[in-house]
Parts: sequence; structure tokens; C-alpha cells
Amino acid sequence: MIEFRTVSLKYGKSLALNQVSLQIPAKSYVVVEGPSGAGKSSLLRLLASFEAPTRGEVTVTGKAMSKMSRAARAHFRRSVGYIGNDVALLANRTCFENVALPMQIAGQDSKEIQARVTAALTRVGLAKAAKVYPDVLSGGEQQRIAIARAIVNRPQLLLADEPTAQLDDVAADKIAQLFREFNQANVTIVVATHDPERFRGWSHRMRLSSGELESLDTRGGA
Ligand code: ADP
Repeated sequence: MIEFRTVSLKYGKSLALNQVSLQIPAKSYVVVEGPSGAGKSSLLRLLASFEAPTRGEVTVTGKAMSKMSRAARAHFRRSVGYIGNDVALLANRTCFENVALPMQIAGQDSKEIQARVTAALTRVGLAKAAKVYPDVLSGGEQQRIAIARAIVNRPQLLLADEPTAQLDDVAADKIAQLFREFNQANVTIVVATHDPERFRGWSHRMRLSSGELESLDTRGGA
């Protein structure tokens, strides 16, 4: 469980989040909606611990992130997969190499890398793309490679910032279906989107407006 306790985040004079309190239970599927500038990306960056709040606390299983040791925070980060709103694959590496990158950074051995990268590519339906470079793939396929890269370390929490913004309906639906499957496999999902209807199966739906939590629905989605 991750909890925000009256969290505010300022960038200079701009208040990106204003006293937001919320809970993200383990294994939930959270859709965060709201117009541009509402604070969705900021919320995701705080969840990923890329940023620290200006005021308030983010807690993970009851422990304040700000009071965690550097090692504990690094450990938490390794349990998080993040999909940014630009795909950001490396053009001069094959898809396999792109997906392998987080495992190489974590110093894992090549046998394990081979097995897990192949599993991640298969999971997103792109095992056949292992040896090709990203630029021969469609936008939707590139996004699925980015998703494979985000899940290769088997995160417990997967954060996605507008993952379907650049995609056509068919490609976007495939991404939404993948998130639903990951959640059914007990991964906690938080997805920021302009298009909440697409993400069926959510357990929590939050709406941000001007940095404030405007509404929260926990009925669960169809
Ligand atoms: P959303 O993802 O909903 O579009 P953001 O979290 O990106 O919203 O932005 C929330 C507010 O914070 C906006 O007013 C935005 O201009 C501001 N903001 C976000 N990131 C930065 C930054 N790095 N520097 C300055 N202002 C920022």
C-alpha cells in the first residue's frame, strides 16, 4: 500500500499538487484522469520516488519515504516499472537490447537476462521483434517494447504516463488489455490518461483538477 498524506508538490512557484491525500492498495488498478496540467505526471513521479513532496508524506507500507535509508529507497525503486509519455527507446540498440537495459544496469547475469527479456517480449506479443531495431516497428509496437522494458525486472508496481496518447484505437486497446492482464497477475497498476474509458477493469478511478483530487471512485470498472 502506498499512501499520500496531504502531499503538495511545487515546481518553483507552480503548485503541481495541492494537499492530496490518497491510498493505493497493493494489487489495485488505478486510473488517474484529468486535463493537461492537472498534476497527473507529478503524481506518478512522486509514486516512482523520482521526486519528493514539498510538503506532506508519501508512505510505502506505512513507512515514510523521506525517512527510508538510501538503500531502502533504491530497493523500492527496483520494484517499480515506469512507462513515460515518450517511448524513449534507444535507436541504436535492438529491441532485445533495449529491454535488457534495466537488467544490465542491475548487474544480472546474461543467462537470466536472456530468459527474462525473452519472457517479457513474449508477454507483450513481440518475441519476433527481438533482433530488430525500434524504428522498423509501429508506434504501438514501440510502446509495447517500452512496456516489456518496464516489466522485465518483474515490478510490483507499474506506472504509466499517458501510454496510449500517440496511438490509434487498435494499438491503444492492446496496451489497455496488457495492463488488465498484468493487474490480474497481481501487479499494482497506476495509469495516467486522458482516455479513462479505455482502461477497463480498474479498481480505483481518480480525477485530478488543478493539482487537487477532485473525485475518487472505487466501484471497479467493467
Ligand atoms: P499533467 O500530467 O496532468 O498534465 P503535470 O503534473 O505535468 O500535469 O503538471 C502539473 C503542473 O505542474 C502544471 O501547471 C505544470 O506546468 C507544472 N509543472 C510540471 N512539471 C514542471 C516542471 N518540471 N517545472 C515547472 N513546472 C512544472
